[in-house]
Amino acid sequence: MNVDGATREHFEVVVVGGGAAGLSAALILGRARRKTLVLDAQQPRNAPAAHAQGIFTRDGTPPLELLRIARDQLVPYGVKVSNRTATHVCPRNDGFLLTLDDQTTVQAHKILLATGMKDLLPAVPGFEALWGKAVHHCPYCHGWEVRDQAMAVYGKGTPGYLKAKLLHNWSQDLILCTDGPSGPGPTEMDHLGQLGIRVIEKPVSHLVHNGDVLQGIQFKDGSFLARQTLFLSPEQQQHSSLPAQLGCKMDPEGLQVWVDAQGQTSVPGVYAAGDMVTRAQQVMVAAASGVQAAAMLNHAFLEEGLHLKNQTRV
Ligand SMILES: Cc1cc2nc3c(=O)[nH]c(=O)nc-3n(C[C@H](O)[C@H](O)[C@H](O)COP(=O)(O)OP(=O)(O)OC[C@H]3O[C@@H](n4cnc5c(N)ncnc54)[C@H](O)[C@@H]3O)c2cc1C
Repeated sequence: MNVDGATREHFEVVVVGGGAAGLSAALILGRARRKTLVLDAQQPRNAPAAHAQGIFTRDGTPPLELLRIARDQLVPYGVKVSNRTATHVCPRNDGFLLTLDDQTTVQAHKILLATGMKDLLPAVPGFEALWGKAVHHCPYCHGWEVRDQAMAVYGKGTPGYLKAKLLHNWSQDLILCTDGPSGPGPTEMDHLGQLGIRVIEKPVSHLVHNGDVLQGIQFKDGSFLARQTLFLSPEQQQHSSLPAQLGCKMDPEGLQVWVDAQGQTSVPGVYAAGDMVTRAQQVMVAAASGVQAAAMLNHAFLEEGLHLKNQTRV
């Protein structure tokens, strides 16, 4: 069965993931007249945020509005978009067979993965509720909006120190909370002191908030610190198991999918783009890497001389 319920459909490219990376890749592939399907589970990383900042010509646009425009702009090029999850993938017939969450299957000559990353927030009450509202990770995305507010950085050791140092230019009312011992080393502590950044090592109980508004941090010893906004660098994992199913090589930390200069993974015919391949995780970067991988994928088709027979060109 294919995505429309008839016999299995073949595509030159299946793009898995319809965020900034996947949709910009699909735009390039559609314009290159490649028969393309986008599969999207509709859970982009920035969905909790009201606005996407730092976007060339579209600063402050709601994230889902950006994606709506991107989908609309695929229509003239005949790119199909389906709101389904690819649950399984395996090599098949000079390409790949993808199984979707409704058990239908589609065949692709090449795959472009743009499935993104998942943020793993601390198991401290309040983080989940305030994520993307008063709890942020990226000062380039959200620092301006909360400049000069009473700010906390949540983090241990050198990563906590680096985050606090980075945020210092957005607010000088800044306190580093390490949630228990394991604060920065002595030299880093000295530097934070010079910057006027206080360090609190007391274990955190929970974040106190009223709806989306952070009121402060409640410590386990009963003390309370009034704060308006909090930044942290959450742990992450791949959003999808497809790279693992395909056996894609990972970076040395085992976090991001490794790609070559053409955006191709270690599995021939499988390309990847967006947050899943880099720690430089922003909408514009993801969109650009989607463009790059799509163009290189199209070149690979030309070099291989592969074309779907009898297909109707748009
Ligand atoms: C709270 C928050 C706010 C942010 N704000 C900003 C900002 O203001 N400005 C900025 O530049 N960046 C911002 N970012 C970063 C930005 O969200 C990412 O860089 C960007 O979304 C990456 O795009 P992507 O296409 O790689 O992945 P995503 O946007 O995460 O898209 C991946 C898509 O793939 C889908 N998917 C995953 N697995 C499957 C599967 N198996 N089958 C089908 N679909 C699948 C997902 O559902 C999702 O729709 C923010 C991030 C967060 C967490």
